Amino acid sequence: MTEPASEKPTGILVDLPQRLIQITWRDDAVRVYDFDTLRRACPCAECRPWLHDLLTQSPHEISAATRQAVGNLASLQDIQPVGSYALHFNWADGHTSGIYDWKYLRTLDASADLPLTDQTT
Ligand SMILES: [Zn+2]
Repeated sequence: MTEPASEKPTGILVDLPQRLIQITWRDDAVRVYDFDTLRRACPCAECRPWLHDLLTQSPHEISAATRQAVGNLASLQDIQPVGSYALHFNWADGHTSGIYDWKYLRTLDASADLPLTDQTT
């Protein structure tokens, strides 16, 4: 019921000052992801433990050790498309292993329930 093509976003906006990424999905759903959430949710093998923490704990219960391990999260240096199925983030902390496919990003949006402020220009 989820073919890859229908998962592909129709628009991606990166707001560096606000440290947010706004993705418009093909079904017109618009979701906003903050950098910290994305960095902590990095799906690469190295970060799987953090991912596991995220899936099994509420954000408030993420251990201090986990927070420290991902450092200052700070900022994003670059985003690159991976084929037509994913995004690759280069984080300022030097971590570049994560490939976030569309399905995974949509999974994340269930917990990233930030209301989109009305910013039509
Ligand atoms: Zn990672």
